Amino acid sequence: MSPALRIGIVGAGLAGLATALTASSAGAVVDVFDAPAAASSKATHLHVTANLLRELNTLGLADSCVRKGFPYKGMVVTDAHGRAYAELPSPRLAGERLPPALGMVHGDLLGLLRQAAVDRGATLHQGTTIVDALPDATLVTQAGEHHPMDLAVLTNGPGSARTPRSSLVAWEPEVLPQLWCQTLVPRPVALDRATLVLSHDHPKVLLVPVDTRRAGVAVMWNERERPSTADIRHVLAAHGGIVESVARHWGAMTPVTERPVRFGMQPGPWHSQRVLRIGPGALMLPPHFGQQAAQPVEDALVLGDLLRTGMPHDELLHAFEARRLERARQVLDITSQAARWNVRPDASTDLLALAERLVPLVARPA
Ligand SMILES: Cc1cc2nc3c(=O)[nH]c(=O)nc-3n(C[C@H](O)[C@H](O)[C@H](O)COP(=O)(O)OP(=O)(O)OC[C@H]3O[C@@H](n4cnc5c(N)ncnc54)[C@H](O)[C@@H]3O)c2cc1C
Repeated sequence: MSPALRIGIVGAGLAGLATALTASSAGAVVDVFDAPAAASSKATHLHVTANLLRELNTLGLADSCVRKGFPYKGMVVTDAHGRAYAELPSPRLAGERLPPALGMVHGDLLGLLRQAAVDRGATLHQGTTIVDALPDATLVTQAGEHHPMDLAVLTNGPGSARTPRSSLVAWEPEVLPQLWCQTLVPRPVALDRATLVLSHDHPKVLLVPVDTRRAGVAVMWNERERPSTADIRHVLAAHGGIVESVARHWGAMTPVTERPVRFGMQPGPWHSQRVLRIGPGALMLPPHFGQQAAQPVEDALVLGDLLRTGMPHDELLHAFEARRLERARQVLDITSQAARWNVRPDASTDLLALAERLVPLVARPA
C-alpha cells in the first residue's frame, strides 16, 4: 500500500477547513497552519445559498447547519418601504428534506467545519504563520521550521501582507467603491428570510435571519471610506418597515465588519509544481449572490474527489483546474456584473436577469 499523502494547508478560514475535511476524508494526512493565535469566529451573518447547502450536505454538515441557523425559502427583493417586488430564484438543491437556503452565523459554520476536520484526523497549528511555500511543497514557518509535504494548498485569502512567498503568480483584484458594513442585531419578528432592500435614494441593505433571536444586517455603502455610526443609523432610519426598526440597534459600540467589494481571478494555472492556491486567493468574488463561501467549498470537494482516485500529483492538479477554472470564470463574470450593477445600476441588465444566469450554472455540482 502506498503511504498516505501529506497535505499542508495554509489558512484555517472556510476554504482551508473545508479542504482539511475533504482531504482527511480522502485518506490524506493533513496539517493546517493558521496565523492568528485564536481560531477565527466571525460574528456576522452567512447567507447559505442553495448550492452551498448542497455542498455542506455532501460534507455531512447540512443538518447541523439547519439546527444552528434559520432555514428559509430564499431571498426576496423589496423597495425601501418593504414592498416585495421580486424573488431571487433559490431551487431546492440539497434534496427535499432540507430547506432551499438558510442564514447562520459565519463563525458557527467555521466551528462546525473545524470540529469535523479535527474529528477526521486533521491537525490544526493555530498561531503558526507560513512565510514560504517552496516548490516541492515544503512549508516554512515564521520560526524557521520546515514542514515537508507532498502537496501544499494555500487558502490564506488574497493579497494579505501575510501571503507566503511562492512561485505562484501575484495578482491584484479590482476594487469597486463599495463597502459592506455588517453586524448582528436582534431579529425583527417579521423577518422570515433573506431580504434585499433596494432603494434609489439610499444605500442598499441586506437582512438575513441567522436564528430565532438574531439577524445579520449589511449596509452597502458606496464609498471606500467607512461611514460613521451616525451615517449608518441615518441610512437605516430613512427606510421604512423592517429596516427602520433595525436602526436603533446600531450604536457607537456595535462591532462592525467591513467587507470591501473586490473581485478577480488568478491568471493562468492555480498551481506551480506542488503548490496549489484555492479559495479567494485564486478566485476573489464580490459578496453579491452569496458565492464567496460556496465556491471555496466547491474547490475543497473537487480536490477531495480527485485525491480519492489516487492519481499522481501533477495529473491531479491539472484535473482540478479542468473541473474548476472555467466554472469559476463564469461565476466571476456573473457576480462581478451584479457588483457593478449594484454600485451603478444601468438599464442593460438587472439583478434578476443575472440571478437567472447563475442558477443553472451552480445547479449542477462542480
Ligand atoms: C464578515 C464576513 C461575512 C461574510 N459573509 C458571507 C456570506 O454571507 N456569504 C458568502 O458566500 N461569503 C461570505 N463571506 C466570505 C466568505 O466567508 C469567504 O470568502 C470564505 O470564508 C473563504 O475565505 P478563506 O477561507 O479563503 O479566507 P479567510 O476566511 O480570510 O481565512 C484565511 C485564513 O488564513 C490565515 N492566513 C493568512 N496568511 C497566512 C499565513 N501566511 N500563514 C498562516 N495563516 C495565514 C488568515 O489569518 C485566516 O485565518 C463573508 C466574509 C466575511 C469576512
